[in-house]
Parts: sequence; structure tokens; C-alpha cells
Amino acid sequence: MTRETSSASEGIKSLLRENIRNIVPYSTARDDCKARMDIYLDANENPYPNGVNRYPSPHQPGLKSKLSVIRKIPAGNIFVGNGSDEPIDLVFRLFCPPGKSSMIQAVPTYGMYSVAAAINDVRVINVPLNPDFTLDAGLLLSKVEEDTRVIFLCSPNNPSGNLLDRGEILSILDNFSGITVVDEAYIDFAGSDSFAALIEKYPRLIVLQTMSKAWGMAGLRIGLAIADKLTVSVMSGVKYPYNVSVLNQARAEELLENPLAMYDRVREIRKERSRLASALSCLDRVVTVYPSDANFLLVKFRDKDRAFDELFGAGIIVRDRSSAYGCGDCLRITVGTPEENDRVISVLSGQEHTGFAVQKGPGKGRTASCFRKTGETAVSVRVDLDNFRKPEIATGLHFFNHMLEQIGFHGGIALDIVCFGDLAVDDHHSIEDVAIALGDCLKEALGDKAGIGRYGFCLPMDEAEAFVLMDLGGRIDFRWEVPLHGQTVGDVSSQMFSHFFKSLSEHLNCNLHVRAAGDNDHHIIEGVFKAFARALGQAVSRTPSGNVIPSSKGWL
Ligand SMILES: *Cc1c(COP(=O)(O)O)cnc(C)c1O
Repeated sequence: MTRETSSASEGIKSLLRENIRNIVPYSTARDDCKARMDIYLDANENPYPNGVNRYPSPHQPGLKSKLSVIRKIPAGNIFVGNGSDEPIDLVFRLFCPPGKSSMIQAVPTYGMYSVAAAINDVRVINVPLNPDFTLDAGLLLSKVEEDTRVIFLCSPNNPSGNLLDRGEILSILDNFSGITVVDEAYIDFAGSDSFAALIEKYPRLIVLQTMSKAWGMAGLRIGLAIADKLTVSVMSGVKYPYNVSVLNQARAEELLENPLAMYDRVREIRKERSRLASALSCLDRVVTVYPSDANFLLVKFRDKDRAFDELFGAGIIVRDRSSAYGCGDCLRITVGTPEENDRVISVLSGQEHTGFAVQKGPGKGRTASCFRKTGETAVSVRVDLDNFRKPEIATGLHFFNHMLEQIGFHGGIALDIVCFGDLAVDDHHSIEDVAIALGDCLKEALGDKAGIGRYGFCLPMDEAEAFVLMDLGGRIDFRWEVPLHGQTVGDVSSQMFSHFFKSLSEHLNCNLHVRAAGDNDHHIIEGVFKAFARALGQAVSRTPSGNVIPSSKGWL
């Protein structure tokens, strides 16, 4: 492992510009003294507090640890820049000797790559995407020259909106010996796996992401590069020391702490994207609405100037991309709020009111959300007992994430959980506080429990024997007979599983009896979570008996 990592780092080292390889980074006062002191007289700061009189942390550890949870990437593999522009520029500064190197980009694509290349005196080789904007890796690789140091790919691509084919990107990663950048500014809208998971396998891969789009922080200028640790540390040594301001770091951390609102907005934008796309594609004046995995649509019009002017006249500005390669007669339209999209549709269809009414969701239903913050953790949970959708789970513990996902999938409920906890200490607080917040949230969503099945049973699951009995009647009786063999399962302490279900039963007010056995701890625990999920799904589901409280007493 160590040997592999160090040889990966050797590979990167040989790709760095010589002057960069030899640079000794500027060491800030905060680099030199990381201890927490009473009095700081080492940075020539003004001692009188006004909220911004101290320099920001140069390596943004607080922000990175939250990003690490959300992105499921170790903090040491994350570089935080002043927008994505900073890592784009740094890629050239690190790897491309000015006047003596070239980069390849697949056009049409984001304009900043070629601007940053020009600033750094790096020659740009444009390789066209296919007419439907798909990537031809073979064609691109055939254009690699002796001095080509970097390939820029943007997926989902701006301005075309589509994800590039995974296999084609992999073929570039497998066959190009320089640096490959995959810009995933729009990945959160795509519902597909990020290439960030592959940085260990491909140390010469740099994945760019941003807080500007899905996360709604364009004003904060926070862009990420996710890459091999050596690349990240060299970027950190070359950047301006205090590249992300105190206010920007603090606001980003605050917004990240409760990301469920962001997940909601992304879902809403994706829904609106398909509504807007189908409405536009019905119009005679529209030739093509290109398929989009991003938060915008590239639309080819019969007369794009007229469409642009009509929108402009109605106070709506969109982007004319018709001069980009392969984008003749195209406008790029960002997906807005439902009301804004309605306006676009009504202006372009020449109608005051369109037939495409905004779909209003049903009432509150059996949903609940809670945000629970202590000295040790900040936990957000949301459940919807009547509408399944893919769970969004991030706790910083991979195995625990995976188990919590089972509750959503096998319980047939919508479940989102994000927990920022003191994992540097251990997993105890994170797991306990997720259990408490989840229990509280399920209880609130159940409301008066009218019409529920109340009981849940589950018998052997495939992998291991797991029995879970549940009664949502309101009393608490917890039993746990699950012998485990090791100290940990995945990255979670074995003893925390009983603690998790005990806290959960106490906060959900339920009887919960769990029994399981098997040879393999992973299978046993997975069986327990799946069986729990099935039992929960049964117990919370509404029975055909209607709105009756399932108790002879008439209340629960
Ligand atoms: C918007 C966008 C970015 C993000 O830029 P920031 O500087 O992080 O705001 C990066 N890449 C592409 C392709 C984009 O469209």
C-alpha cells in the first residue's frame, strides 16, 4: 500500500514542472504554529476583534472535513480553491512549462480552460466531440502530441449538458500518460457516480467540483480539486497562502452543515429540467432539446435570434452559445424556479398562460425532518414514509452509510441523513446521535399513527439469519442477541450496533427485538439492517383497515 502510494507520487513528481518540483512553499504563521494559544503575536495581525482581524486558516481544515463527509473522499485528497478557476489555473502552473507544452480539450466545452491555457502560454489542441456531443476517446488520443501534458474533459459538459461516456473517459485514463482533468461542476444534477472515487486507481486523474452550482454558493467562490495527495499538497504549496477568506469559509461551513435543503433543490431542478425539456420540445420553433444531465438545457431553435429577443423583451436573459463548436442556432437556458420556467415556456410558446401547470406536491403527508446539533455532532435527518426515493446518506463512516442506505431501500421509505461528527475521536457520538435523530424523526413522521400496521416481523434474510420483531405501540423494550466475532465491522466499532438500535428504539418509542447469527460479521450486520428495514416498512405502512388507530384502546 505504502509502496504503491509512493510510486504513484513518484509518477506525479516526474510530471511536475521542474521549478515547481523544487519549490519550498511559503510557510504562514499558522503553518508554523498549529497549537491553540491564548495570545497570537506571530502574524502582525491587528489584535482588536472585529470578526475578520485574524488571517483565515490557510488549509481550511474545518471546511475540508465537512466536504470529506459529503464527498466521501479523505480530506487529504481535497484541495479547496477560490472557485474552480483557481485549480484550473493551478493545473497549468503545476504541469505545463510555458511556451513548451500543449493541452487537449474536447469541444465545445467550458471557456475557462483555453483562457487559463493562454494566460499560462500553453498551446490548445481542440478535438471535436461527435455531433451528438458524445466523446470519441480514440480520436482524442490520436491527437496527443509529444508536448501534451494535460487533457481537459467536462462531464456533464458545458454547454451541451450531457455526461460523457464513462468507458470513453476510462479509456483516456488508461492510455494517456499525462494529467487528465475531469470537470464535474454539474455532477450533482447527473445522478451518476463521480470519477472522484477513482483517484486512488488513477493518480494522474484530477477531478474538479464546485460549490457554485448545485450547492448554491456561486457567490462564495469555492471550487474543489480532488486528486492524489501529492498533487493536492503541491497545489496547496503553490496557491496564494490565504486563498479562501474567513467569511467565505465560515459561510460555506454553515451552509454545508444542513445540506438536505440542497438535496431537495437539486431534485426539484432535475424535475423541472425534464418538464422544461418536454415543454420546449413540443414547440414548432424548437429543432432540438439536447439531453441534459446538468442544470441547463442546450436548445437549437429555427430562429435563435428571435427566441433570444422575445425572451429578452420579457425580461429573461439566456446565453447565446451559437458560436461554440457544433452549437449553431443554440441557446443555453438555465433551469430556474418552476415559476421562472413557466415564464420561459409561456414567452416561447407565445401564450399568456401555458397548459404546463406547475405540479404542486401533495400536502405534508407523513414526513418529518430534524436538525440536531451538539458539541460533538451536527445531524440532519429527513424521512417520508409514503414516498420512496434513493437515500442520500453521508456520515463519514462508509460501512454505516451503507447500512443506513439499507433502511431506506428495504424499508421502502425516503430517508436522507447527513452527520458531521467528531470521528477524529471515535465513532460513538456520530452513531448515537444519528440513532437519536432518526428515532425522533420517524416518530414525528408517524404522527398519531392512524392506519399503520404497527407490528413488523422479519425472518431469515439470505446472507445470514436475522430476526427482527417490532411493535410501534409506544412502549420500549429492547433485546439484542447478535454475537459478533470482531472488534469492528467495516469502519464501525462492533459494540456500536446494539447501541445504535437501542437509542433508536428509545427515541422511536418501540419494542425492538433483534436476533441474528452467522459466520461473517459483515453479513450478520447487513442482515440485521435489512431485516430491521423490512420490519419498519411493514410497521409504518398503512393497512387496508383505513384510518383506524391499531390498538383496542383507541390510541398509541
Ligand atoms: C460553472 C462551472 C464551473 C465552476 O466555476 P467556479 O469558479 O467554481 O464557480 C466549473 N466548470 C464548469 C464547466 C462550469 O460550468
